[in-house]
Amino acid sequence: KPPILVPELAARLGLKPFNVMADLIKLGVFPAPNQPLEPEIAAKVCEIHGFSFEREKRDKDKGFHKVEEVIKEPEAPAEEPEELLKTRPPIITIMGHVDHGKTSLLDYLRKTRITAGEAGGITQHIGAYQVKHQDQLLTFLDTPGHAIFSDMRARGADITDIVVIVVAANDGIMPQTKEAIQHAKKANKTIIVAINKIDLSSANVERVKTQLAENGLQTTDYGGDTEFAEVSALTGKGMDDLLDLMILQAEVLELKANPKATARASVIEARVVPGRGTTATVIVESGTLKVGTPFICGPYAGKIRSMINDRGETIKTAPPGSPVEVIGFEELPHVGDHLTEMKNEREAKSLASERQEEQRLKRLRPQHRNRMEDLYSMV
Ligand code: GDP
Ligand code: MG
Repeated sequence: KPPILVPELAARLGLKPFNVMADLIKLGVFPAPNQPLEPEIAAKVCEIHGFSFEREKRDKDKGFHKVEEVIKEPEAPAEEPEELLKTRPPIITIMGHVDHGKTSLLDYLRKTRITAGEAGGITQHIGAYQVKHQDQLLTFLDTPGHAIFSDMRARGADITDIVVIVVAANDGIMPQTKEAIQHAKKANKTIIVAINKIDLSSANVERVKTQLAENGLQTTDYGGDTEFAEVSALTGKGMDDLLDLMILQAEVLELKANPKATARASVIEARVVPGRGTTATVIVESGTLKVGTPFICGPYAGKIRSMINDRGETIKTAPPGSPVEVIGFEELPHVGDHLTEMKNEREAKSLASERQEEQRLKRLRPQHRNRMEDLYSMV
């Protein structure tokens, strides 16, 4: 029978010899280079990576072959069939300089659009909420500021469609306004400007527009293409215009998703709630989240035990574009982690342990490198 060598085993598993060495050291085996491995040991290494080990009868093959495919997260299709696509609500992030009215704007929308006329009028803080305007839903991320935006982008969870930049008309453009404009432009987002605090006598809307133009945002009334609304988050003046613009821009963007696709969502907030355990607010990107769905989220498996919407209601399904608090995480996920529906719990768990193992090895690697170099220098 042919010998099983580390480099070959590594190649078959799609790893670097070095990774296999790390596994071996963990198993208490310290082979010298070119020293054949015991078949039982090779089998254990294969198992760690979701492969089975089998010696073949003929010499032609090197002694083991892939029996079981490595379990992978289902990949998002590059394109969904047109007939399955449905319009989804836009995801909107509010940015701007401190004290220019981001929180006030979000509060105004939440209070007037969600609770008006609703019994009790209690809203749940889950990090995002939906507003209905002209019979259309708009989803707002409830965490104003650039941090979450940049964080999520860095993690590949760029879910924002529209950025509303708030500028106080009395203050004009300030350093964080410029930063917000740069962030939004770099990310290629549709920008809408809310010129806020127009109720103040010190408000100077024209000056804001000039400053906007100086920063690459020429407003539509000056021949540019930046939509803007003059508003007061305090009195509510102009807020309808602002919402109209959001609907308009969402239509231009033709935001669509397939509600029947494999469910995918992005984590925007995660916390431990007393009595409820580990929960996370996610925004559904495609597919429909359902109670009972097994999932993978970062390196952890989970199963949706229950879901709560932004009004604090228990729901059974969550369509694309909706924010929802999910209960059923094994561990606290990170903001920006992707939650993906898995075929079954077994696959979810298997993929989770593989990812955890990967992380563990990554953490251990520098240590192993030294030890492996020691090993090689001994020969
Ligand atoms: P943020 O830091 O951008 O979240 O700003 P806030 O929403 O906390 O608002 C800062 C201050 O501006 C608060 O005292 C608000 O009451 C006030 N404010 C916000 N919007 C308006 C507005 O339209 N008119 C006036 N007069 N004050 C406002
Ligand atoms: Mg604030």
